[in-house]
Amino acid sequence: MKNTSVAIVGGGIGGLAAALALLRSGQRVRVFEQVATLGEVGAGLSITPNAGKAILALGLGDDLLRMGSTPTSGAIRHYASGDTLVSLPQDRSAERYGIALYHVHRADLHAALQRAIVALDPQCIHTGRALEGVEARADGVTLRFRGGECATADWAVGADGIHSVMRAELFGIDRPNFTGYVAWRGLVPGDSVPKDLVEPPLCMYVGPRRLLMRYPLRRGALINIVAVARREAWTEEGWSVAAPVSELEQEFADFHSDATRLLALTPADRLFRWGLFDRDPLPTWTRGRAILLGDSAHAMPPFTGQGAVMALEDAAVLGRAAAAASDPDEALQRYERARHARVTAALAMSRARAKLYFAEDPQQQVRALADGMTEVRTLYDYDAGNVPI
Ligand SMILES: Cc1cc2nc3c(=O)[nH]c(=O)nc-3n(C[C@H](O)[C@H](O)[C@H](O)COP(=O)(O)OP(=O)(O)OC[C@H]3O[C@@H](n4cnc5c(N)ncnc54)[C@H](O)[C@@H]3O)c2cc1C
Repeated sequence: MKNTSVAIVGGGIGGLAAALALLRSGQRVRVFEQVATLGEVGAGLSITPNAGKAILALGLGDDLLRMGSTPTSGAIRHYASGDTLVSLPQDRSAERYGIALYHVHRADLHAALQRAIVALDPQCIHTGRALEGVEARADGVTLRFRGGECATADWAVGADGIHSVMRAELFGIDRPNFTGYVAWRGLVPGDSVPKDLVEPPLCMYVGPRRLLMRYPLRRGALINIVAVARREAWTEEGWSVAAPVSELEQEFADFHSDATRLLALTPADRLFRWGLFDRDPLPTWTRGRAILLGDSAHAMPPFTGQGAVMALEDAAVLGRAAAAASDPDEALQRYERARHARVTAALAMSRARAKLYFAEDPQQQVRALADGMTEVRTLYDYDAGNVPI
């Protein structure tokens, strides 16, 4: 099918990737994003081989090479002694999966998607449009935005994230589940960090019910920090808040000085705390001519690092489904049939990992992490550019 009109709600990584894939398949695409200025939070993203293949399928292979850092070596360390519990040799993904593992800055990936979309259609992205209502019929979709403006399309994709209005409108209200964990994400300027604190480049400290990970972005210009700890509840307004560095230092005060010295270097405006939520799987993502993609369909905890990756895979498969179909109904069916079981399995895997990674005993955590890596690698074989649709 060619030249159908598609409305995509949400201009995050999932929404923009879907827009690019659908433009390339010959559809007329409009993205409606609630914020006035499009952007992404400053944090790192692991582009596992399956994500890399989705990015290749989206035609952004050169961008990936330009913006990605490949980890040279890594270690899992004891939180207090700093002893190396497991050495992670140089990544062998290129040999095993045909594509290396990369780390990218989310903002760089988001900007690359945006550039590619604008090159194909400068009018595609509409900001300042917050979805409030959806009418999904058998022959098309009408979207209603804050302020009363409406848009119609042959079909629509809800890519509006974990707090999706589209999901609530199509399937009724179901609240996201708090997983019992919070994560701090911070970026430290690489030139402020003594060399010995970032050797080896990829490092995870495992401590009782806490994890602290660091890896370089933009070839070391930034050091990405992800720290996770347990919390009984999430009581903040919104799901991410600016956090003082002292809070992170306090939570990880019993960690090795190499770790705490790095945390202390985080600039005050570069640290955020996130409540980690997920969603129960939906039996279907389709209502009439509207469908869900990315976190709105299948938000998962980040313990397999696959949330955004699944959104990229969704987008590449959706573009192929549209190219292969003769009408929007067939495209939606092909996409959901190809994707539903895979993301439901990835969500279950991520939930299961949460319980194992946060044991009291670091040795037990290390075993769980090693087992987990083996299991998570089963996800890496998938090629969104080639799976049957
Ligand atoms: C702490 C943490 C660490 C993570 N680490 C990783 C990782 O290492 N690897 C990984 O793959 N994933 C990771 N994730 C998950 C990843 O961030 C998400 O899965 C991914 O961002 C989902 O993309 P999305 O486009 O579906 O949703 P989002 O990125 O949430 O984008 C949704 C977009 O929709 C817009 N929007 C929302 N409501 C409306 C509305 N009503 N109208 C119009 N627009 C709207 C929003 O403004 C936003 O731009 C992590 C998540 C967290 C919280």
